[in-house]
Amino acid sequence: MKVLVINCGSSSLKYQVIDSETEHVLAKGLCERIGIDGVLTYQPAGQDKIKYEAAMPAHRQAVELVLKQLTDPQNGVLKSIDEIEAVGHRMVHGGEKFACSTLLDEEVLQTVEDLNDLAPLHNPPTLVGVRACKEILPDTPMVGVFDTAFHQTMPASAFIYALPYEYYEKYGMRRYGFHGTSHKFVAQRTAEIMGKKPEDVKVIVCHLGNGASISAVDGGKCVETSMGLTPLEGLIMGTRSGDIDPTCIEYIAHKEGITLEDTMQIINKKSGVLGISGVSSDFRDLEAAADEGNERAQLALDAFCHHVVKYIGSYIAVMNGVDAIVFTAGIGENAPLVRKAVLGHFKYMGLEVDPINDSIHGDECMISTADSKVKAYVIPTNEELAICRDTVEIVTKKTIEDVVKKVLG
Ligand code: ADP
Repeated sequence: MKVLVINCGSSSLKYQVIDSETEHVLAKGLCERIGIDGVLTYQPAGQDKIKYEAAMPAHRQAVELVLKQLTDPQNGVLKSIDEIEAVGHRMVHGGEKFACSTLLDEEVLQTVEDLNDLAPLHNPPTLVGVRACKEILPDTPMVGVFDTAFHQTMPASAFIYALPYEYYEKYGMRRYGFHGTSHKFVAQRTAEIMGKKPEDVKVIVCHLGNGASISAVDGGKCVETSMGLTPLEGLIMGTRSGDIDPTCIEYIAHKEGITLEDTMQIINKKSGVLGISGVSSDFRDLEAAADEGNERAQLALDAFCHHVVKYIGSYIAVMNGVDAIVFTAGIGENAPLVRKAVLGHFKYMGLEVDPINDSIHGDECMISTADSKVKAYVIPTNEELAICRDTVEIVTKKTIEDVVKKVLG
């Protein structure tokens, strides 16, 4: 089955076409500056990237251009758009309504829309993208894969905020967690590599990218994760503060004489390792600056690692043990120094880092020694493939159900 995977932002749309049988990416690309002017990037497998400007006043035009490009007689990878048998959409916030991926019919879209208050920056553009796709491909099944779904197994004791309970009841204020598609993919792959069933392992997944989160996965189920009502909670990130005393927000607003909205912008966009270092949100820049003796860059790196260690330690306690600690995403896959600094704190549990760690940049690899009691891995995440797999599963199930219904009358 050929699956179009779409990840919509407010002014961007990332896409991939994946052949679900081989799990090969046939083409991928990105639409940028939607609603401004429009730039399309397209890369068929094994060929050079093409980039050109094209008017994209709205997401609908972006989807149309992507489909036109994919079926282009010269460098397209599809003969016709009919070859796309399903579309998988990355959805950010499914609230408590979606604990797994689901077919996107109008009722589901309405339910997602009702959750817009929980993710005002992310859900509305996703819905615009889904609706544009549905208009252009009305007979193609669409599946929504939610960033929050995998974390829905967290017990109430882990997700409840110690606020008046009525806010949970009235406004759905609780911890949801994000990056769920990645945490699930990596946790499942960890069990596979270890030659064990997911039910039999305790895994801590460190998804360390510009946005960063950690999850504790016990027996294949998420029992804790570091992000909360929004992706702001938890670890120190590229530009997000992560955990801070909520009073800091009031204090900044008061001292700087700025609004709550402006303060939240600072907490989201100007904090994190960028805020501490004043250098960059990118770990490559921070490592380079620290090497040159920049103390604040070094402090940002140290603080980042410190928080990762704190979360891992607490999740070991939550799960009453751990079999594997796994690193993924931009920093997790590419920053051996961060992995080494973090894992060094778990020597007491018999975790021995293998020197191979120093040379691993983006490849799947065990980075603990063979006889290390607790294992450590680098496992590149692949959210698009995870979305494709879920999409195929849901669409196949629906097809079988339809056939059974028809046969039984
Ligand atoms: P997101 O999806 O949240 O935007 P990514 O998972 O793509 O983030 O991670 C991007 C981040 O990964 C960059 O900001 C940078 O900090 C880090 N990164 C990427 N490559 C390297 C590298 N070679 N060494 C260190 N850090 C890297």
